[in-house]
Amino acid sequence: MSLPSSESSSPKEAARHDRVLVVLATPVSGCFDYLVPPHLSVVIGSVVVAPFGNRRLPGIVLGPGTGDVAVEKLRYLEEVAAVATLPDTLLLFMKRFANWTVSPLGAVAKMILSQPSALAPPAMQKQFFMPQIAPPEKRLTAARQRVYAVMADHVRRCAGDISAAANVSQAVITGMVAQGLLDVEHVVADQPPPTPRHDLPGLVLTATQTTAARDLSAMIGQGFSTTLLDGVTGSGKTVVYFEAVKAALQAGQQILILLPEIALSAGWRNRFAARFGVVPVEWHSDVSAAQKRRAWRFALDGKLSVVVGARSALFLPFKNLGLIIVDEEHEHAFKQEEQVIYQARDMAVLRARIEACPIILASATPSLESWVNAGATGGPARYRHVVLSDRVHGASLPQIKAIDLRKTPPERGRWLAPPLVEAIAKRLQHGEQSLLFLNRRGYAPLTLCGACGAKVTCPHCDSWMVAHRLAGRMRCHHCGHETRPQRNCGQCGESDSMQACGPGVERLAEEVLWRFPEARFAVLSSDTVGTPKAAQNFIESVQAGDVDIIVGTQMAAKGHHFPNLTLVGVVDADLGLAGGDLRAGERTFQMLSQVAGRAGRESRTGEALLQTLDPENPVLTSLLSGDRDQFLATEAAARAHAGMPPFAQLAAVILSAPEDTKLHEAMRLLAASRPVFDNVDCFGPAMAPLAYLKGRHRARFLLRAEKTIDLQHILRGWLANVKLPAQVRLHIDIDPYSFL
Ligand code: ADP
Ligand code: ZN
Ligand code: ZN
Repeated sequence: MSLPSSESSSPKEAARHDRVLVVLATPVSGCFDYLVPPHLSVVIGSVVVAPFGNRRLPGIVLGPGTGDVAVEKLRYLEEVAAVATLPDTLLLFMKRFANWTVSPLGAVAKMILSQPSALAPPAMQKQFFMPQIAPPEKRLTAARQRVYAVMADHVRRCAGDISAAANVSQAVITGMVAQGLLDVEHVVADQPPPTPRHDLPGLVLTATQTTAARDLSAMIGQGFSTTLLDGVTGSGKTVVYFEAVKAALQAGQQILILLPEIALSAGWRNRFAARFGVVPVEWHSDVSAAQKRRAWRFALDGKLSVVVGARSALFLPFKNLGLIIVDEEHEHAFKQEEQVIYQARDMAVLRARIEACPIILASATPSLESWVNAGATGGPARYRHVVLSDRVHGASLPQIKAIDLRKTPPERGRWLAPPLVEAIAKRLQHGEQSLLFLNRRGYAPLTLCGACGAKVTCPHCDSWMVAHRLAGRMRCHHCGHETRPQRNCGQCGESDSMQACGPGVERLAEEVLWRFPEARFAVLSSDTVGTPKAAQNFIESVQAGDVDIIVGTQMAAKGHHFPNLTLVGVVDADLGLAGGDLRAGERTFQMLSQVAGRAGRESRTGEALLQTLDPENPVLTSLLSGDRDQFLATEAAARAHAGMPPFAQLAAVILSAPEDTKLHEAMRLLAASRPVFDNVDCFGPAMAPLAYLKGRHRARFLLRAEKTIDLQHILRGWLANVKLPAQVRLHIDIDPYSFL
């Protein structure tokens, strides 16, 4: 039995008691004591399987048991998983993460142990190879000769690969083994991915790039540091951070690269492969369970050098993490809004701190937070700031101009104003490409009855159903509810009275077809281009010149390189500002600069035209003058004045319930015990702007606090004493991005 050794000195040994504390991979608060059966032995960080109710759950041993529960009531651990012990840094990250986000530790453990198959013993596989002494070939059948031709390189292969390559049945292979013509060995089926090579030559860097690359590489192995890599689109940020990756590879360390899911294009993948000789190991929602299993295990074994992934890759059990890169660090996609609500960029900085390694945040339009942290507003610089100010190839940034829709409006029922139409026509004449940007999926955001004015709304949400004519459906963009479009009004019964209001990309495409019947156009949105494969095909067809006009949502704004694209038309530059939440201006600025940056990436200068009803808006004037820092400075001053992040802290508490009465009961309970502290404001409860979502009524509190306050502590204290009615759910959103 594993001995209770009270005199043990090493912390790893401290858990060698017969009673251990375990966090289970399930979103409950609290950890549980378990007994260790005599045939098992565990240490802190052991991954175990434990009974919980009538389920079996994976969990992590955190230390000796607390002794709070009588021994007779404790249950035994069932298994120790066939994986290495989790590193202390990961356990510390799990605790700090839960602490920061005020989420149950078990919910974070669940994100770490997200791949149940990674915990099972590795599968075995037969591998075949040429025997030392091969018999003369001419005595072999044709099929066997083909097998030998394949195996002549002395590479070990599984039966499936051989039968495919040699076009023989597996029986041929077994027969050859029986006669000693092939040797076989049982090996672990999962083999580590090939290590990226650090000895391949990269591009010849410009002088500025060289300085930046040296600067970043010098941080490798020097402990924790955060660097904001701030460079205009096309300045070579990727090229530069690849040099830091190279340095970390040389030092034998592991590297994590986080990208917003949407940015992980084949283009990025190919560039990585060209630089490092192998395709990168990926981790995101499109990766198969088998690949995730391998990535997880090899990250823990230290045999996986580089992972590129979406935010969930942050929870991989790296053994020896030496560098984190967050590309497009300003992207809101890094904020997870469901279940455990967290900002992956911020948590990546936390992880780097715990792992004592450098982290690089890269962007052409840095988040206000990172920019302020880099000391750009004159405050203390917590981040290093490395700037790449020029585009390579001497390409200049696009000229950005506004089209004042009050002066030159489009015709009734159309959305493209005359100056934009003219600009597109000119591009068509010159054989150049245009992008029309409208961040609205579908055909029309609103459908209403021309007779009585009734709007088509979602039965589960406070929202309009969006017409998707290509799919022939009406869709709710909040909950995914779908119906067939109705021709007759559901309210007044009038027939053929339903009218589409406002444009989505599909409707814009209709206008393009009407105006330019000869032009070849394509719609780029998550509805038309749903998979990474489809996206890749789309990008290739644009690059091959098969498309004259792209009509696209935010999918079209991201990192693609279209050399022949010289015009970007933003159909509604005011759209993103309408909501008016804390980051509306910042988000609009980022998105519009990003989309404008699609124009003129090579020698030809690009042009971006922004259609607006409000050209004096500070977001637009900063865009037009090309003065990003001016925009950030104004925005920072406004936030500081209003006492808003990043100069103060915000936290939202969101309540939801299927029944209105239950929700109000919960609101009253929480309001009655609302926190009262100096320098902390508690606003609400108020019904959420989206007061009904996915069949649940919703209300919100908002807490604002000075930066010195431990807001998480206040939240925990408040919520610990409130017993919410059944069916009421409570979510805490630290530093909320969505105020709906
Ligand atoms: P960013 O990430 O800042 O937008 P990238 O790293 O994607 O910039 O570089 C933009 C383009 O310029 C890419 O096609 C890249 O291959 C090219 N590029 C960058 N630096 C160089 C260089 N030193 N020599 C040649 N091409 C370069
Ligand atoms: Zn009607
Ligand atoms: Zn809905």
